[in-house]
Order: sequence, then C-alpha cells, then structure tokens
Amino acid sequence: MTHLTPADDGYAEARQGFNLRNEALRPDAVVVCRSEGEVIAAIRRAAGTRLRVAGRRHGLLRRSEGAPVVEIQLQTGVLRVERDRLVVGPDATLGQISDALLSEGRALPLGDCASVGIAGLTLGGGLGPMTRALGLTCDSLEGARMVDGRGLVRDSADDPLLLEVCRGGGGGRFGVVTELRFRTHPAPQGLTRWRFERPTHDGEDVGALAELWYPQVDQLPDAAFSRLEVTPGRLAVTLLAYGDPTPVSPVARALAEALPLVDAERFDAARPEHLLRDYAPSYLSKSSLGFHSSAGARLSGLSAAAQEILTAEGEIALEVITLGGALAQGRGGVFAHRGARFFASLHAAWRDPLLGPARLERVARVHHLLDARGRAAHYCNFPHEDPEGWDEACFGRAAFRRLRTAGALFDPEHRLPGIAPQRGRP
Ligand SMILES: Cc1cc2nc3c(=O)[nH]c(=O)nc-3n(C[C@H](O)[C@H](O)[C@H](O)COP(=O)(O)OP(=O)(O)OC[C@H]3O[C@@H](n4cnc5c(N)ncnc54)[C@H](O)[C@@H]3O)c2cc1C
Repeated sequence: MTHLTPADDGYAEARQGFNLRNEALRPDAVVVCRSEGEVIAAIRRAAGTRLRVAGRRHGLLRRSEGAPVVEIQLQTGVLRVERDRLVVGPDATLGQISDALLSEGRALPLGDCASVGIAGLTLGGGLGPMTRALGLTCDSLEGARMVDGRGLVRDSADDPLLLEVCRGGGGGRFGVVTELRFRTHPAPQGLTRWRFERPTHDGEDVGALAELWYPQVDQLPDAAFSRLEVTPGRLAVTLLAYGDPTPVSPVARALAEALPLVDAERFDAARPEHLLRDYAPSYLSKSSLGFHSSAGARLSGLSAAAQEILTAEGEIALEVITLGGALAQGRGGVFAHRGARFFASLHAAWRDPLLGPARLERVARVHHLLDARGRAAHYCNFPHEDPEGWDEACFGRAAFRRLRTAGALFDPEHRLPGIAPQRGRP
C-alpha cells in the first residue's frame, strides 16, 4: 500500500486524473492499494475520515465533500477471460478488456474511450456503440466484490443487493469494488461502418438532417448503431452494422441522400480501434443532454443549440446516439431509463485553463437552449455542472429507495458520497 499526503513526493502524480479540472480537489491522503486486503487495511486506518474511491480517474466532475477525505485507489491488474466469462479488477481499462476479449472471439458492450476504467463505467451503467445490440455494460455484470464503508468484504453471491446497485447506481457510493464478474457474448462476425459528413455553419441544416436521421435510425435492427455529431463547422453521422449489413443498407442509402457518404468500410471483426476513440487528458466537461424516446422530445431547440457548436472554437461536440434494442430488454439493476431510444450529450475539452470560463459559458448556453434540465432524464456518468436536482434526474423513485437501503447497509456511517436526499421527500 502506498500512502501519500500532500507533503509527499508522488502525491500530485497519484491523484492526476484524465479530467484536469479535478486537480483542484486535494484529498488529505491518497492511498494506492494493490489487493483487497490492503483496501480493508486502508479503510480501517482511515477511521474517522470521509472516503472517496478512485479508479482510472476519468470521472467527469468530482466534488469536494469537505475535509478530511482519504482517497482510495485499487490497482490489481486482474483481467481473466474464462470461456464465456470475464473477471476483472476495477482498474482494467476498456481498451485492455476489448483487446483481451476479441482475441478469444468474445465481446462486452462498453463505452467509447479506451482509457476509461471498467468500474466507473459499469457502476454508472455503461452506454456505447453496442448498447442497442447487447445492452448496457452493467447488464452483463453477474457478480461483484466490494469492501464496504466499514471495511467488510461483501460479495454479491451472498448480498444480491450489491449486484443490484452495481448495475447503474453510480460509482463510489458504498465502498471499494474489488472485482467485477461478467458474462461475455460472441463477438459479432464482421462490422460495416458508413461515415457521412459535410461542412456547415448553419444550425438549421442540423435541424433538417435530424428530422431525417431520427426516424431512419429508429428503424435499425438491434445489431446496429448510429451517432449524429455536431462539431465546429461540421455535421457528421456514423452508422455501424454488426454482422450482416443487408438490413442496415436501406438506412445508409436514405442518409446518403441528405449527407455525403465519405467512406463505407467492411471489417472482419468489430475491433477496438473501430469502436473506441482516442481522447487526451484535458480540462473536460462531458454532460448529459438527456435520454429521450423520440425526435420530438429533443428537436425543439436543436438548431439553435447546434448553431452554438458550429460557430465555436476548439474541441466541442454535441452527440446523439441510438439506444433501444437490448437496452429495453435488460432486467435487474437500478438503471432508470430502459425505455430510452436516444441519448444526447455534450463534450467540451480544453488544454489552457484560462479558456475554461468561456467554454463553460457556451456549455451552459447549449444546455439552456435544449432545456436539458428539470424535466429531462439524465445519465449519472455524464454529470451536469450544476448538481442541483441531479440525482433525481438520474434515478427514479424505485432506484432511490434501493440506493438508500444499500447506503444504510453498506455505509451506515456515511463515509462515502452516497446519494443526495430527493427534494421534497424525506
Ligand atoms: C473521454 C471520455 C469518454 C467517455 N465515454 C463514455 C461512454 O462512451 N460511455 C459511458 O457510459 N461513459 C463514458 N464516459 C464516462 C465514464 O464512464 C465515467 O466517467 C466513469 O465513471 C469513469 O470511470 P473511471 O474509473 O475511469 O473514473 P474514476 O474517476 O476513477 O471513477 C469514476 C466513479 O466511479 C467510482 N469508482 C471507481 N473505481 C471504483 C471502485 N473500485 N469501487 C467503487 N467505485 C469506484 C469513483 O468513486 C467515481 O465515482 C466517458 C468519460 C470520458 C472522460
């Protein structure tokens, strides 16, 4: 175990995250553990403090819980593919898992960033290009181990509530997850990818394209995915078909009439490089613009919001991805948006901290134009800048009850962030 305080060499490096905005948070100690036993010892040694759990540090906005706070990170290096099962430590990255599974002809639905940690992704749900085909990452989770807020080892084989809240209840709430056990899926036999794009500076263009895109991609078979993406000066659509592309081709033809096809490629397998994108550490805001089930729910305001992006500078992207399919059929867990057919998000990244206020102002304007707050349903792994009412937007009433029950059982002393009380309800 490595125990580092701000006075120690290595402290800054140990807490360095992918999102440089989190550097302002200075826990009183960072404890890097290499085994479950070390996690137990670290939690007991930190008696009387608040605890925070770190994984691969891609969490988007961490908030200070007030001092003193001890941050615990577990690095196990465990990653075992056992026929149709996968056993991993919380520190395995999506890139490592995709590589290991593909070489065994297996797949797991994951997010789109190779360096994200499996624990944070799974505990929040796990959305990505295979959600429609295979469900959320957490839908494939069969078992978990955790050292709880009192330093006791819990295994979902004995504590089914642990598995339930690990499926979409959010990370770092009840203890340090030490092992995740998944069932895996046969890897798709081939992948076809179409990319359409054109330059534009006109938000109305985006609105018109969206009116075509939503109904077209809503008819896609489950083994397909599409993403509509608006970036400065550019409008793009990606379409993926897993296995046989024939049922997806009519949608590709319809899209090609509205947006130039820039490439269409067929690959023998859905390799990580086709599904995962490269992101670099930066000051980052990646926020939910909401789950929705039809174009109508999001189109008002889209042209104006797109105009904000098209005319921006730097790295900023508004994205809408397809859901539905296996997401709707998933069972168990506390993920509250099974009926969603689309998910929209906003990504903004900058490398010069002085650019932060202007970038965040633009982010706020896009949110305002899409009226994404309040009535919308949100994803806990893509948090808003303003935490007010956030948990309510992520979880339904039933999930709240289960998360509260889990909090009372696993962390009765409230040492971890837990879940905020629901407004207006005791
Ligand atoms: C560039 C980028 C792209 C992304 N793309 C996607 C995407 O396509 N789909 C998607 O669903 N999400 C995506 N995300 C969001 C990502 O899934 C979350 O930020 C995730 O929580 C990161 O997990 P982490 O372990 O890397 O981060 P961390 O910051 O280390 O942890 C995130 C949360 O999980 C908790 N946690 C971590 N490890 C443990 C553990 N061992 N036990 C208990 N709690 C733990 C932490 O306490 C924290 O609350 C993306 C994020 C980034 C930065």
